Amino acid sequence: MPRLYFKYGTMGSSKSAQALMCQFNYQQKGMKVMLVKPSLDNRGDDETPMVRSRIGLKSECLTISHDQSFIDMFNNYKQQNGCDCIIVDEAQFCTSKQIEQLKQLTAQVPVLCYGLLTDFTCKLFEGSKRLVELADSLQEIKSVCKCGHKATVNARFINGKCVDDGPVVFIGGDEAYENMCWWCWQEELNK
Ligand SMILES: [Zn+2]
Repeated sequence: MPRLYFKYGTMGSSKSAQALMCQFNYQQKGMKVMLVKPSLDNRGDDETPMVRSRIGLKSECLTISHDQSFIDMFNNYKQQNGCDCIIVDEAQFCTSKQIEQLKQLTAQVPVLCYGLLTDFTCKLFEGSKRLVELADSLQEIKSVCKCGHKATVNARFINGKCVDDGPVVFIGGDEAYENMCWWCWQEELNK
């Protein structure tokens, strides 16, 4: 039976690059990959939706909104192109229901999800929570804090100030993120 994978890491831990390398590996062997990201992620404002990595790799992808079904999307895609594998980037933004649909689809093809585990308050995203509950394989993509410890927190900065409250998806304003360890995060919050 194919499996549901969740490969998680902080921002800047090369998740998108790894998703694209995985797609490349499948395609090199002549296999068809359905590459998808939730439409909430508006990084870059391309006409054509893309999965982009910070090191310059990119690939066209499909987008899925909260009220769409992965099962319908897969059936259409398979009919038109064939499909041997599903890869989802930014999987933290999927709904619980969508993760359950992906689990169902592993009866047919492997599903590889890449995403953040926790938000800027260090709490699980909805999609990530369901993935931790349902994935057959959990794998951490490690990254390092500026102090040398492992980075586990996606710290949010607004106008240069580290904050741990506000909406999960911030709209407007000067917002930035930095991955860091718990202790450096505490220090930033107390500044
Ligand atoms: Zn640190």
